[in-house]
Amino acid sequence: MTQSLPNIAERRTDVLARLNAAAKAAGRDGEAITLVAVSKQQPQARIDAMLETGQLVYGENRVQEAQTHWQDHVGHVPGLRLHLIGPLQTNKALDAVKLFDVIETLDRPKLAASLATAMDKAGRRPDLFVQVNTGEEPQKAGVLPDALDDFIADLRKTYEFEPKGLMCIPPMGEEPAMHFAFLRQLATRNGLDALSMGMSHDFETAITFGASHVRVGTALFGPRG
Ligand SMILES: *Cc1c(COP(=O)(O)O)cnc(C)c1O
Repeated sequence: MTQSLPNIAERRTDVLARLNAAAKAAGRDGEAITLVAVSKQQPQARIDAMLETGQLVYGENRVQEAQTHWQDHVGHVPGLRLHLIGPLQTNKALDAVKLFDVIETLDRPKLAASLATAMDKAGRRPDLFVQVNTGEEPQKAGVLPDALDDFIADLRKTYEFEPKGLMCIPPMGEEPAMHFAFLRQLATRNGLDALSMGMSHDFETAITFGASHVRVGTALFGPRG
């Protein structure tokens, strides 16, 4: 019965209650934390059911799949905001800039250059987050922590980009809390406010450590197909 429609509205109510409880426990305002509903690899019926709940912020990790999921909704859902949370190839920069409101995965100078060109061409400037490879995993995208300060300085100087914040995906099987604390430290050091961190299994911990954006997929939509 994997194709049955989970009760999307109930799942969202539950996740929002957990988000607000974690915020309250941390002495934070839950309203200040953005729930990014990660709709990658989800059937359109679940996405449409989620839209009906009033959820307006969504995350996708591939440009082409995001176009399929969202092309018909863009321009028809006031307040809709799409976040790119997966790696971006330079040859997809223009498509990404046209579709997304936030690109969370800026992680190399060549991509910054492609995005700058794409933004001029599209006449649109999505918000940017810098992805940090906090676990220094060879297979994972993101700027290495040691290179981050120079990278951000270069974004500001060369491209006049002012990133909103930092994003990370902690290594599997490691305690996420230390990665969240580390990301916050890196952001503070660079004068950045926003922190995109925390997924279905660890978003409450991320909120304790200051997440401004949590990226939640399966807890909201059910298992991916
Ligand atoms: C898929 C994905 C998520 C959501 O993961 P869940 O465990 O389903 O909540 C969050 N962030 C990124 C970068 C992802 O690729």
